[in-house]
Amino acid sequence: MSFDRLAERVTEVRERVAAAVARGGRGQRVTIVAVTKTHGPEAVTAAWSAGLRDVGENKVQEALAKMADIAVPVSWHLVGHLQRNKVKSLDRFALLHSLDSARLANAVCDHGLARGRAVDALVQVNVAGEGTKGGYAPRDLPAEAERLAGLSGVRVCGVMVMAPLDAEEPVLRRVFETARDAREMLENAGHPAFELSMGMSSDFEIAVEEGATMIRLGTVLFGARPR
Ligand SMILES: *Cc1c(COP(=O)(O)O)cnc(C)c1O
Repeated sequence: MSFDRLAERVTEVRERVAAAVARGGRGQRVTIVAVTKTHGPEAVTAAWSAGLRDVGENKVQEALAKMADIAVPVSWHLVGHLQRNKVKSLDRFALLHSLDSARLANAVCDHGLARGRAVDALVQVNVAGEGTKGGYAPRDLPAEAERLAGLSGVRVCGVMVMAPLDAEEPVLRRVFETARDAREMLENAGHPAFELSMGMSSDFEIAVEEGATMIRLGTVLFGARPR
C-alpha cells in the first residue's frame, strides 16, 4: 500500500474533526493518534510527513520493532492490552491507553515507582460489558478510582473506551457519554484525568461531538489493513 495521499486524507479528517467539535459545542482540542498496526514502519514515517505526531500500536512487540526501524521522533501510544510482564516497555511509550485491570495497575505502578517517574495511563472502561474487550466495568470504577489515588507510580490522565463495532448511533452516544462521566468521576477523585480517548475510523465524528480529546484512527488514514 502506498501512503502518497495521506496528507490529503489528514486534511480531510481534520476538517471533519473541526466540524464535529463545532456541532458538539465543547470547544475541545483533539489529538489524532495514527494507528499503524499491521502496517510497516513506512506508515509511521508517512504519518510524520503528513504532520501527525502521535502514533498508536496495539501490540508491544510490533511497536518496538517499528521504533527500531524509523528515524522520526513521533510519540508512541500503546492502545492494546499490555501483559504485566511487559510493563518495562512502557518506557518507550508516551501514554498507555489501556489500563484495564487492578492487577495491571499494580504492576504499572510498581514500574513507575522503580524508575522514579509515574507512568501516564488512561483507564479503559468496558461500557457495553463485551466479553471480547478488556477494561473496567463502570460499576467498579468509583472504588478503583479511590484505590488508584494511592498508587503514586501511575498518573491517571483520563479514560479510554472502544465502542461496539456496527452499533447504532444512540448506542454509540450512550457509550461515549458513559466514558465522559467516568472521566469526570476520576477528576473529582483527584486524578489529572483530562483526556478522553474515544472514536475510531467508523465513529470518530460522534465521539468528538461527545467530547473526545483523542481519536485513534487506522483505516480512515491508511486504508484497509493487510491481513
Ligand atoms: C485498530 C485500533 C484502532 C483503529 O481502528 P480503525 O477502525 O482502523 O480506525 C483504534 N483503537 C484500537 C484500540 C485499535 O486496536
